[in-house]
Amino acid sequence: MEIETIAIHAGNLIEPGSAAIQPLTLSTTFQRDAQGAYPSGYMYTRISNPNRVALENVLTLLEGGEDACAFSSGNAAGSAVFQALEPGSHVIAPVDMYHGLRNQLKVVYNGILEVEFVDMSDLEAVKNALKSNTKLIWIETPSNPLLLLSDITAICDLVKTKDIKVCCDNTFATPVFQNPLKLGADLVMHSTTKYLGGHSDALGGGLITRNKDEFWQRICAVQEHSGAVISPFDCYLTIRGIKTLPYRMKGHDANAKQLVAFLKSHQEVADVFYPGFGGMLSFTTASGESAAKKVANATKIFIQATSLGGVESLIEHRASIEGPDTKTPRNLLRVSVGLENINDLIEDLDAALKV
Ligand SMILES: *Cc1c(COP(=O)(O)O)cnc(C)c1O
Repeated sequence: MEIETIAIHAGNLIEPGSAAIQPLTLSTTFQRDAQGAYPSGYMYTRISNPNRVALENVLTLLEGGEDACAFSSGNAAGSAVFQALEPGSHVIAPVDMYHGLRNQLKVVYNGILEVEFVDMSDLEAVKNALKSNTKLIWIETPSNPLLLLSDITAICDLVKTKDIKVCCDNTFATPVFQNPLKLGADLVMHSTTKYLGGHSDALGGGLITRNKDEFWQRICAVQEHSGAVISPFDCYLTIRGIKTLPYRMKGHDANAKQLVAFLKSHQEVADVFYPGFGGMLSFTTASGESAAKKVANATKIFIQATSLGGVESLIEHRASIEGPDTKTPRNLLRVSVGLENINDLIEDLDAALKV
C-alpha cells in the first residue's frame, strides 16, 4: 500500500460489520472471564489500549518498520531510548538539535549517560567522536532550528558492524519526505504533537523500530513500566490527523517553497535556511535581534508561538525560548508554514518586515 492509503486505513482497526470509524476506548481496565483470562486481549490501559494499538500500527506502517511504541510526548519517546541504554553508555547527539531533548540529555541523564554533541552534518566529526563505549547515535535531520541535513545512510554505514544503535528524530521531515529505517537507521522517533497530529491539539510521541530485537524489548519494557503512555483520546486525535498527513505535507511544502522565494528576495532578510522540502524554515533579519522580535510581534496571520506542524502558520524568535546556552543566531526567526493561502501569508510577512 502507498502512504495515502496507509495514513487513512492503518490507524482504523475495525471489525467487519462494526462502526466504520474505530471508537474511542476510554476504559482504563478490561474484563476477565471465568478462567481469569482477558478475552478482549486487553488488561489495563497503561499496558495496552485499542486506540494506542491503532496508533502504533499506523506509525509502524508509515515508517516501514516492524513495531512501534507510542508515548505521552516526543520527549517521553526520546527518553525511552535513553532509558533503555546501559548506564555509562556514550551517546553522540547533534549540536543543532531540538532544545527540549538536548536539555533532557544534559539535565536528566547527567551522570547516567556520557553525552557528546557533535556537528552531525559533518561525517568526519561523527567518525572522530566514536568511542569503545558508544552505544547510540542520535540524528535529527533536518535539524532544529537551522534545518541542517545529516547523511543518515553514511552515518549508519559508519557503525554497521558495531553494537551501536542509530535513532533518527524524523519530526521535521515526516514519513512523507524521509524514511530513516529504509536508509539504515535502527529506530525512528517522532513528536506526533507536530505534523502527524497536525492540528496543535494533541501531545504525543512515537518510536518505530526496524527490528524487534533485544534493545527494542527494553524500550517496550520502559513504555510499560515507566508508564509515559499517550492517552486514548490523544491517540484518537493523532490518528485522525494522520489521515490527511500526505496531503497536508504537499500543502506545507508548496507554501514553504513560495515563502522561501519571497524571503530570499527581501532586503530586510539576511539568510534563509530551508532544506528544499517540507514546511519548516528559518531566516535571519538584516537589522539584528530587535528587528527579528518586532517582525514576530507584527504578524497578523502567523501566530507568535512555539511548536510547529499545525495547519496554522507560526513564527517564533527561537534564541529566547532555547535559553542562555543556545547557539542559535539572535536574529533568527523560525517559521512553521501553515496551510493558509500563500498570498495572505506573503502579504502578512511583507507588512511585518516593514514595521
Ligand atoms: C517538539 C519536538 C520534540 C519534542 O516533542 P514533544 O512532543 O514536545 O515532547 C522532539 N523533536 C523535535 C524535532 C521536535 O520538534
